[in-house]
This record gives sequence, C-alpha cells and structure tokens, in this order.
Amino acid sequence: MSIDSLIRNTIRSDVLATPGYHVADASGFIKLDAMENPYPLPDHLATDLANRLANVALNRYPVASYASLKARICQQLGVPEGYDVLLGNGSDELISILDMACAHQDRRAVVLSPVPTFVMYARSAKFAGMDFVGVPVRDDLTLDKDAMLAAIAEHKPALVYLSYPNNPTGNLFDEDDMVEIIRALGDTGIAVVDEAYEPFAQKSFMHRLPEFDNLVVMRTVSKLGLAGIRLGYMSAAPQLLEQFDKVRPPYNVNVLTQVAAEFALDHIAVLNEQAAVLREQRALLSAALAAIPGVHVFPSAGNFILARVPDAEAATAYLLSHKVLIKNVGKMHSVLSNCLRITVSTPEENAAFLDAFKASQAA
Ligand code: PMP
Repeated sequence: MSIDSLIRNTIRSDVLATPGYHVADASGFIKLDAMENPYPLPDHLATDLANRLANVALNRYPVASYASLKARICQQLGVPEGYDVLLGNGSDELISILDMACAHQDRRAVVLSPVPTFVMYARSAKFAGMDFVGVPVRDDLTLDKDAMLAAIAEHKPALVYLSYPNNPTGNLFDEDDMVEIIRALGDTGIAVVDEAYEPFAQKSFMHRLPEFDNLVVMRTVSKLGLAGIRLGYMSAAPQLLEQFDKVRPPYNVNVLTQVAAEFALDHIAVLNEQAAVLREQRALLSAALAAIPGVHVFPSAGNFILARVPDAEAATAYLLSHKVLIKNVGKMHSVLSNCLRITVSTPEENAAFLDAFKASQAA
C-alpha cells in the first residue's frame, strides 16, 4: 500500500487539483491583508469577558437552539420582525451550508456571481459538487446587469452571491440592479446578499427581506472586530431557513463564541465606535494614496481600499520585505491588473504602510 495510491483512489480529482487556501504567516508584520479590525477590546472589557468565559460549562454541548444569542442578534442588528437568523462558524460555513442545501444530485446545480469577488463562493460551490459561473464586472467595477440577467436565463443558478460591498473591489453594486437580479431569479434561484462589510458600508438589504421570498442576507461579526470568534449569521424567509438549518452541523457555534458574542452585543457601542474610526481612516488613507503619482484609488464602502499602482508585484514584494502585508489581487482577474487591496487600520499602521509604499515607488 502506498499513501499516494490511497489518495488517488479516494480523494476527488477536483480536490486534488485545487490549491489550498493560503494564509500568509503574519507574525511580526503590519497585517493589512485580511480586513481585520486592528483594535482589540479595551482592557477592562477584555477582563470582564475573561471572567464570563471562566464560568462557561466546557463539559456541556452548546444549547442547541442558540435561542438567546439569536434573539439578541435579531433585536440589535436590524433583523425584521418575524425573521430569525441561522448561525454559522463564520460566514464561510454559512456559504457551505447554502451550497450543500442547493447542490442537487440529479441535475446540474449552478452557483453564479459577479467576478472578481470573494473566492469562497467558487471554492465552496466546487466542493459541494456544483458548477460555478462567474460574470465579469465592467471595467469600472460596476455590476454588468445585462450580462448577469443573460447568465441567469442561461444557467438557471440555484444560488447567486452578491457581495455588498464587493470584496475585493470595495464598491456597492447598484441597489436597483440588484433588485432586478433578485426578481429575475424568481422561484428558481436564491439571491444571497453578503453584507460582511456592512459596518463600513452602512447600506443593507436586511430591512428589505419581507419584499423577496428568495432573498438571503448574510453577515459576519468578523470585520467588526471579532474575526477570531468565528460567527456569521444569515436571515431569510423562515421556511427557507428551516431547510438550511437541516444541513447545519449541530452545535456548529461553540460555547465560548456564544458567550463572547453575547458579551460583544452588550458592548456593541464600542465596536461601532471602532468602525466609525475606521471609516474616517478609510477616507484619509484613500486621499493620501490617491495623491501619490501613478496611483488610482477606487471608492470603497468596506474597511479596505483597492488601488491600481504602476507595478503591483514589485510594490507587494517591497512591502513584504519591509514587514507590511497587503494583498496583491492583480492576478485575480484582468479588471484588477496591478491592483492592491489594503485593509484600513490604525493611523499609525496606515502611516507605516504609506511610508513603505512611497519608498517602494521611489525604489
Ligand atoms: N464574505 C465576504 C465578502 C468576505 O470578504 C469574507 C472574508 N474575507 C467573508 C464573507 C468571510 O467571513 P467570515 O470571517 O465570517 O467567515
């Protein structure tokens, strides 16, 4: 027996052909590659949270309904009356739950989304055994509504993911275009509006859930300052959520996350204030970058900035050698050639990035 033949005989060929999800080792770096909130919880809150966590019964499974946390999320985060949420181990897990629920075995099931976009839509679709159809955005990064509608008519996707705002382009797609797409899907497809960056966009489809039976609104607490606890939530018509809930692994949100999330909701004003600071910093960093000759900054509604630079590869390498980690998205899609994605951080880290970037342009 050899491990190589065992792998060939058991692991799917498309999995074998897929590269791993690479996450750079960031120790010692200024980390501007993953849209994290750079601000930790204030010390006094961290101590209070530690005390609460100390009392969690680790020997017991979580309360399977997650009723108290779900009720708090519904009340505090704008979920419409009569709508519930389903919780996931990050929205990454919610994407895989949605895909698994819609990956028909007896016919070709398609996931469709504008591209470039969040890479997990395509990866998760593939792992669920679905086909992924990407519809390129226009050169100005706006949604190509006509191409989307044509692709929907052709492929009859079970799921359409719309990142709002879109990662990595940072823009909000036109709301009316999105509504037309949701309507065009009718009763053959579900539109998933992914609002991971809602704290920075302050635009949402959540309140519009009652208008569309085929709308799912998905969010995460990751970008708000809690990426480490891994908690995503999504809302939709109760009948749809009931079906998705069957696919969810029981106890998928652990007890520590549950307690930390309830604690964060007690102190949501602190996180909202951090988001407000980052929105201000986004404007300052955008303006500073745009003032550098040869750099084009795209408008952003997220906690990150997309910028076209003269040589993305050289700039990324220079920044890396100066301990600043950003994301070179230039190879992701032709509309992003020579583009960098930079997470907005503290004034100090933004300044350090700007200094290093300016030096890279002079080098
Ligand atoms: N959706 C989008 C659009 C994202 O950019 C990301 C993270 N980069 C996620 C979802 C994943 O969020 P989570 O941390 O909740 O898995």
